[in-house]
Amino acid sequence: MKRLLRSGKVFAAVAASAVLAFQAGAPASAEDVRARSAPPIDFQLPFTCGQQWRLDTWAHAPALDMVREPDQVGTEGAVLVAAADGVVNMSFSHANAGNVIQINHGGGYFTTHLHLQSRSVGVGTTVTQGQTIGRVGKTGPTSNGHPHLHFELGYDANGNGEASWGTSTAERVRPWFDGVEYGQSNGRTWRNVARDCGGTPPTSCSGVNLDFSAYATIRSGSSGDLVKAAQCRLKDSGNDPGALDGAFGPNVQTATRGFQADVGLGVDGIIGAKTWTALLSHGSTPTLQSGSSGADVSRLQRALTAALGSTVGIDGSFGPETEQAVRTYQSSRALGADGIAGPATWGALQDGK
Ligand SMILES: [Zn+2]
Repeated sequence: MKRLLRSGKVFAAVAASAVLAFQAGAPASAEDVRARSAPPIDFQLPFTCGQQWRLDTWAHAPALDMVREPDQVGTEGAVLVAAADGVVNMSFSHANAGNVIQINHGGGYFTTHLHLQSRSVGVGTTVTQGQTIGRVGKTGPTSNGHPHLHFELGYDANGNGEASWGTSTAERVRPWFDGVEYGQSNGRTWRNVARDCGGTPPTSCSGVNLDFSAYATIRSGSSGDLVKAAQCRLKDSGNDPGALDGAFGPNVQTATRGFQADVGLGVDGIIGAKTWTALLSHGSTPTLQSGSSGADVSRLQRALTAALGSTVGIDGSFGPETEQAVRTYQSSRALGADGIAGPATWGALQDGK
């Protein structure tokens, strides 16, 4: 429950609703193992371009509860769009779940949306990706009066032409958005997730150098480019440090404390190796291995540099040096040392281990 501390007053309500579960069913398992490979459909986060959302599994992985960043402002009434092309399979008001829309995307895949404020499509309507289907709300007693989107990706595992939803025993699987898997286990949070609407996603770090050969401990009174790098990563994590001015003042200290509480680290307002590791790795958790390339590889390389305390070349290219660094990290953290950065490795980095 550590990660609830900071925003306890607001997130506790969602947590309670999640713990209640939407219907009585088997208790949610600690680790949902119903992983599937990436769906053959390019699902996107079902919201308006430019918005960033926080995704939480609470106790109902792989289902996700979504609230808008920062601080949930604008969640209620936010426009909900289709995650992919499909045909509306359900659009009705449910006694527990409130307004529900389910879309059949073909190939056995269904998306189900609960607690909607309003529904703007009826059963049988053909929808295209990005088309408005309703608005986010808090309808139904299991929303606990807290505006959020409860989202499920369903897969028709038994081949009966539908995917059950709403319980831990339903045919729900881990959601994928823009090629990234979410919902791996209970108690997980993903910050500042946005729909890929083409172009470069907005980041506070554009133009800010994040690449250093070492990430020294910084604290109140520190200054320079390393502080600026920390500031933009704090901002991306939803903890606003104020101006990106390279000066570690009270706002940066408060943002650091907020981030530490979010990820379950000791809250001291000092950015040392563990906080650097969590801060630099923060974001999506794509599986990366030899041959991978791009911004996510650079993010991994930075986090490994901080975690290992030794320089890993930050070039966005997953070569032998990166693979060796991943193995070293995995074996020193009692993870299977396969040299592949998958969800467990990302999870450890994002926990500051
Ligand atoms: Zn939920």
